[in-house]
Amino acid sequence: MYENSGNRENAVQNPAAGILYKVRGFFIIRKRQGSSPENKKELCPEMEKMMRYIDMHCDTLGSALAQKTETFLELDRTMVDGLRLQQAEAGAQFFAMFLPQRNDPDWFGLEEMPSAEVLMRKMYDIFCHTMEQYGDRFAAAHNAEELKQNQNEGKISAFLTIENGSLIDGKMDKIREIYDLGVRLVTLTWNDDNCLGHCHSQKPEEMSRGLTGFGKEAVRYMQELGILVDVSHLSDGGFRDVAEASRRSGVPFVASHSNCRALAPATRNLTDAMIRELAECGGVAGLNLEPTFLNEDETDKVSRIERICDHAMHLIDRGGIECVGLGTDFDGISGEFEISDCTKLPLLFDALRKRGLSEDAVEQIAYQNTARVIRDGMR
Ligand SMILES: [Zn+2]
Repeated sequence: MYENSGNRENAVQNPAAGILYKVRGFFIIRKRQGSSPENKKELCPEMEKMMRYIDMHCDTLGSALAQKTETFLELDRTMVDGLRLQQAEAGAQFFAMFLPQRNDPDWFGLEEMPSAEVLMRKMYDIFCHTMEQYGDRFAAAHNAEELKQNQNEGKISAFLTIENGSLIDGKMDKIREIYDLGVRLVTLTWNDDNCLGHCHSQKPEEMSRGLTGFGKEAVRYMQELGILVDVSHLSDGGFRDVAEASRRSGVPFVASHSNCRALAPATRNLTDAMIRELAECGGVAGLNLEPTFLNEDETDKVSRIERICDHAMHLIDRGGIECVGLGTDFDGISGEFEISDCTKLPLLFDALRKRGLSEDAVEQIAYQNTARVIRDGMR
């Protein structure tokens, strides 16, 4: 989730976002015609061939909650829903339960913010209802074996994650509880400090603050249990502490939806030194489609495919091909998008091929690198 994401109603009033929804509307209308190969071609005429992918971050459960739907199969004006995941031939989608510490009615359409626990249960219910009602197409996955099994059965894997570990509330038992619920990735902070550590900040002294004492213990425990630790939104000091824990445990960590700070100065992005360290620990950074995290000029609200490729190439240059993955942040971002929903991702894969990447390298970015981290970090 990006800080300034408006809800759909607000976003439509924004001229840039208006274009986006017009484009999305086209897809919504077209998708109801069915999903035969011909229609797929019609949906995205540039699409030469599909590629299975794993996306480490979307905020679609929050959108489903705002739309008061029981499942995420079919949603209005979102960038991801079950039907479009099928059209896109997704291998796996990580679904974040975004649990902010403050309220904005734009996020979930809620006047009053329930407790983090209640909010989580609401999104968890939508996730579970979808798995129950459409078990022929989707299945929850918790590790590499289940990812493989779902793939063999022709199902899309759905991984459950938490964005903002504040609900852990300083209690180790809570970590075990969310593990038992099926959560396999925790983004330690969002844009506020919490019991685990300090979030990213423009202020250098705040940016250098790391994990709390409890946060260090919690990271160790999550890695022991098989929950991936995610440093997106964390301070640079927090990144340093997670990297240190990861070196000790030998378990990789991820920056599920962060780009390169050398290309876009947002504090949410990774410095070159951080990219190298993440790669050395066997981790992956997920390419984020949010314009503010892509463009050098933060007032430029257009998310361009070529710019996403720039970030991919920079990650490869600094950390090697094995540290690059996808973390689109679909349904948590705002602006004007060339990749306006998940069915358009093949355009990114084509653009990466045109940058000279081999078929194997594109497949590593789309799927294999994240599959490797799932194998090494989830149980
Ligand atoms: Zn986020």
